Amino acid sequence: MKITRVRTLPVQPRWLFVVVETDEGIYGYGECLGDKAFVIAEAVKSYEHHLIGEDPRRITHLWQSMYRGAFWRGGPIMNAAISGLEMCLWDILGKSLNTPIWQLLGGAVRDRIRVYSRPSGSTPEELAFSAKEIVRRGYSAMKFCPFSKVKIVDHYQIVEEAAARVQAVREAVGTGVDILLDFHGRVSPAMAVWMEEAMRPFHPMFIEEPVLPENVDALVRVAQQFKTPIATGERLFTKWEFREILEKGAASILQPDPCVCGGIFETRQIGAMAETWYAALAPHNPYGPINLAAALQVDACTPNFLIQEFIDPDGLGKGHLKEPFAVKDGYIDLPQGPGLGIELDEEWIAARPLSLLSDVGRWFHDDDGSMADW
Ligand SMILES: [Mg+2]
Repeated sequence: MKITRVRTLPVQPRWLFVVVETDEGIYGYGECLGDKAFVIAEAVKSYEHHLIGEDPRRITHLWQSMYRGAFWRGGPIMNAAISGLEMCLWDILGKSLNTPIWQLLGGAVRDRIRVYSRPSGSTPEELAFSAKEIVRRGYSAMKFCPFSKVKIVDHYQIVEEAAARVQAVREAVGTGVDILLDFHGRVSPAMAVWMEEAMRPFHPMFIEEPVLPENVDALVRVAQQFKTPIATGERLFTKWEFREILEKGAASILQPDPCVCGGIFETRQIGAMAETWYAALAPHNPYGPINLAAALQVDACTPNFLIQEFIDPDGLGKGHLKEPFAVKDGYIDLPQGPGLGIELDEEWIAARPLSLLSDVGRWFHDDDGSMADW
């Protein structure tokens, strides 16, 4: 079998899908990080010569070719391109053998996959209302960020208001539901410690990205003062960056995102590394349904998997997929189809092209107009 063609599909709302075609008529789907989609689409093109004419089933060899076949390594753009292409190769392999990818990675270690949702609203009342609705729909876990812009050292009022939001959600859902807090790297180590102390009484399952990912030692110092478990990894790439997190004890839950961390097998390997430190794997995905499909394959066969993120309803693939995913009682069934187990509706997708360079917003502090972390 030989790879004959690579295509990218930038699609609304902010996603970048990839298709790899072969001379046997089997094709594979992948998804790359959707931020800066058109830049990443060019990066995908830059790897075409590593793939065209090659056997798509030599997945590790082709990954090595793309990752190591250049002097410069790493970064979100190149890793996102490699990640999406790697998913395509696994999809092709699974389809060629008529089996789900999780079967090829050791077989299922669970019967279904736990997922978390996301409450909406900004006031404690709005969040509590939304949280109750999520529980009513069957979920037993939900994640949100309880604050917006925060300065390096800010008023304690911001901490109190954030804690009030967490308290409102806890009182709305009771202690049988998990609350996951995402600090989004928005706060400094000093403010992170204040925040965690104020939210600790409401027993969050974990706090995600309490500080930005560039300085692991800063996260280590924060971890030493937290009692709440720390999760991180959505802005880290490959086994090499996660190694440092584990070795320094910076987090106990790793959140690689398959569409940027290096792909399906890289996510699985990061999970295996975490297992040796008694840490959990909770794949990140606020993106699209192919990335969800890729993550589910890893979740199915990873013993220390904890919980899966996606955005309901778009991340389930309504419209983009011929058969979207379904959540039942807060779980998604093990995917049973060959490869990733999904089929794109390319006609529907072609009618919804992404037209703008997709990026997150910019934030400025209200009082002096200086930049805040988003
Ligand atoms: Mg996050």
